[in-house]
Amino acid sequence: MGPPSNSVDGGKNALLRALPSIEQLLRRPSLEPLLSGVPRARAVSALRLAVDRVRARLLQGDTRPFDDADVGEALTTLSTPGLRAVLNATGVVLHTNLGRAPLAPEAVARVAEVARGYSNLEYDLDEGERGSRYAPVVGLLRQLTGAEDALVVNNCAGAVLLVLAALASGRECVVSRGELVEIGGGFRVPDVMRQSGARLVEVGTTNRTRLSDYAAAVGHDTGLLVKVHRSNFAVVGFTEEASVGALATLGRERGVPVFQDLGSGALVPMVGEGMGQEPTVAQVVAEGADVVAFSGDKLLGGPQAGVVVGRSALVARIKAHPLTRALRVDKLTVAALEATLELYRDGKPGAVPTYRLLAQPSQELRARALRLQDLLAEQGVRARVDGVVGQVGGGAMPLARLPSFACILNVGAPESFLERLRAGGMPVIGRIADGEVVLDVRCLAEEELRSVAEGVATASPGKPP
Ligand SMILES: *Cc1c(COP(=O)(O)O)cnc(C)c1O
Repeated sequence: MGPPSNSVDGGKNALLRALPSIEQLLRRPSLEPLLSGVPRARAVSALRLAVDRVRARLLQGDTRPFDDADVGEALTTLSTPGLRAVLNATGVVLHTNLGRAPLAPEAVARVAEVARGYSNLEYDLDEGERGSRYAPVVGLLRQLTGAEDALVVNNCAGAVLLVLAALASGRECVVSRGELVEIGGGFRVPDVMRQSGARLVEVGTTNRTRLSDYAAAVGHDTGLLVKVHRSNFAVVGFTEEASVGALATLGRERGVPVFQDLGSGALVPMVGEGMGQEPTVAQVVAEGADVVAFSGDKLLGGPQAGVVVGRSALVARIKAHPLTRALRVDKLTVAALEATLELYRDGKPGAVPTYRLLAQPSQELRARALRLQDLLAEQGVRARVDGVVGQVGGGAMPLARLPSFACILNVGAPESFLERLRAGGMPVIGRIADGEVVLDVRCLAEEELRSVAEGVATASPGKPP
C-alpha cells in the first residue's frame, strides 16, 4: 500500500521527498556548465540555498519541482552583497534608509588608505607613544565651530546619551515640553534622557516655553539645561521659545551648563532654492551653548558619527565617562570625518556631496531630467519631465521644499513597477505620486543616468526580467 497522503496534499509530500540531495546535484551533468569554476564551498552553499528555496516554495503550495534554473538564481544571490549601492531617485538628499550622506571622493580615498593597512589611530607619531583617536579631528572641529574641545562617538543619539550620562546622571535636566521629540527609528528624546540616569524636568507647554519657565525649574540638583533641535517637525502659530543665548545667560548666573542637541549640525550656512536657514554649530557655540552634539552624516555630509563640541572641562568629563569607550568610533569613521572636515576648512563646502546636492539650481536639475528623458527614449520608454518637490531628509529642515525635476512614468501598476526597479542589477529607488512613478534627478549623478534608464527599461512591461 502506497502512502495515501499524495492524493490529499496534491503530491506535495512526494515532491518534497523527491528533492535531490546536494551530493546528487554536485554530480548532475546538466549543472556542470553553471558550476564549473565555482569554488566547491560556494557551489555547496548555492545548492543548499536552491533546495531550501524549492522546499519553502513547495510547502507554500507552489508545486514547481526543482529546476537547474533555481541553482542559477541561488548563485546570483550569493554573488550579490547584502549591503550594496543603489540609485536614489527619491529626491530626498539625506535618506536614512539609503545610508544618509554620500561621502566625498576625498573621504572615500582616505578611508581606503587607512583601511588597507595599519594607521596611527591611537599612536602619537611625534612622541612614539599612545595617542588619542580623536586627535585628527579635534583641531579641525575647534577651528570650524569655535569650541574649545571635541570628541566623536558612534552617532548623535549616542552622543546625547553620553553627554547626559556624563553631566547629569542622578541629577535633573531641564527641557522644554515643546522639544521632547521623536527623531525617527524610535529615538525619543525623553526615553534617551531617562536611559542616561538623568531626571527629566519638563517645563513650558508644547507651543510656548519662556526663559522664566527654565529659571523657575533650576534648583540645587539641576545638572543641565537642555535644548533639543526639533528637527523633523515645526511649531507654528502662537509659539515662544527661549534662545540658546538666553539659556546660556541663565545657566551662567545659576552655575548650570547648557547642552544643545543640534541634530543636523550644519558647519556652514546651507544654500539652495527652498532651503530654510539652520543655525550653524559655530553660531550655537558663539551664542553660549556649553556643549553641542550633532550628527556626522546629516547636513555635515560626512560618515555616521556623533560629534560633541564644547568647553574643555565639560568635554574632559565626557571623555572620561565609561560610555565613551562603548560608543567609540572606528578608524574608518575618523578617516572619513577628518577628510570631510578638511574640505570645510579649505573653504570647499561644494566638494561635500550633501552640500552640493542641496545647492543645485533647479534649472540644472531640469536639464538633467531632460537628459534622462532622452536616455529613456533611446530605450523605448516614454516619460514626461515635470517639476516636483524634494526634501532634505534625515530629520533636517522639515519645512524646506526643494524645487526639483523628475521623469514621470505613467505605468499601469506603479507599486509593482517600483518593485521591479528595486530588483534590478543596480536597484533604482523611486517613489509614487498621484498614481505615477516619479524619478527625481536631484540625487542622481550625471554618470548614473544611463543605469537608471537601463533599469527602467528592464522593469518596463514586456521586457525580460
Ligand atoms: C537626527 C537627530 C539625532 C540622532 O542623530 P543620529 O546621528 O541619527 O544618531 C538626535 N537628535 C536630533 C535633534 C536629531 O535631529
